[in-house]
Amino acid sequence: MKIAETHLVDSYKRNLNYLRISITDRCNLHCLYCNPKGSKCKLRHSEILRYEEILRIVRIGIRLGIRKVRITGGEPLVRKDCCDFLQNLTQLKGLSDVSLTTNGVLLSHYIEQIAAAGINRLNISLDTLDPKKYKTITGVDAFDRVWQGIESAHQKGFSPIKINVVALNGINDEELADLAALSFNYPFHIRFIEYMPIGGTRLCDTEPLLYKDIRRRVETLGTLIPVARQLNDGPADRWKFSGAAGEIGFISAISNHFCETCNRLRLTADGRIRPCLLADISEDIKTPLRAGMLDTELAKIFFTAVKRKPFKHAEAIGPGDVCTRMNSIGG
Ligand code: SAM
Repeated sequence: MKIAETHLVDSYKRNLNYLRISITDRCNLHCLYCNPKGSKCKLRHSEILRYEEILRIVRIGIRLGIRKVRITGGEPLVRKDCCDFLQNLTQLKGLSDVSLTTNGVLLSHYIEQIAAAGINRLNISLDTLDPKKYKTITGVDAFDRVWQGIESAHQKGFSPIKINVVALNGINDEELADLAALSFNYPFHIRFIEYMPIGGTRLCDTEPLLYKDIRRRVETLGTLIPVARQLNDGPADRWKFSGAAGEIGFISAISNHFCETCNRLRLTADGRIRPCLLADISEDIKTPLRAGMLDTELAKIFFTAVKRKPFKHAEAIGPGDVCTRMNSIGG
């Protein structure tokens, strides 16, 4: 029996053609806002989807209209044989875009293999240009390795390279303009992300920095000129400074959510299809897959998840509202 040629359109007529896959909940960093030191509950090896299981789920997704895939984590590059998996993934017929989000620590080591695997685009997370602060935020003295990774991706010709910066009040707020200034000399897209209180990582005491505050700090460098959006653009709005090589983007999931245009599904490291990053709703696809279910039946699990996709995530996300940790969902 064949899977019907039906696409994943949700109750609000959004066409969900983008799957973000967390291939591991493990990370070599302990970012304060994501995977703080002492976080427990690592998934057991047997709980994590095997590569061939992920590939099977993606193949089913492709038949349901998935066209874009992003590999994330945890830190995807810490998982053994990640680049072989990337190679197998990019060879699947039907995907128009396969990208990778990484913290960059292992990037220079793997850059040749990532390029050879046919990865189109890279997002690299970097919240500070100060090596000491990098250690404070991530728990690891790895700034130089990350910068080397970014340089190696740049030299290898990846384009655009997107640098993800989570804006953290009292931590990197004074540095946002310096990070934005990278766009003058490098063709990078510097994207400022509002901190999301998720997985019990709430950074207490201070109010979160929202779009307006972030933008005000960035605009101390000059006026931002809007850049026309393209069809495949994600949630970041696009801007640039006059004469700059790169761009600036803002991802305001909290203050100005982009739910009405959300085209995303997520596959968690432990094999659940999650229709909304900021809602604790998911459908287990791993158990039925391991129990021998046919592709046609597994396809129904996609549809059930899609049916449960909320129109928008909660307006105000309070501490503990979203319990699942970011590193298992993938951000
Ligand atoms: N390890 C990879 C990395 O660091 O890019 C991929 C996984 S990480 C969960 C993906 C993205 O989510 C990163 O850019 C990270 O900064 C972002 N992120 C994690 N926790 C977040 C939070 N609480 N609020 C906003 N962004 C967050």
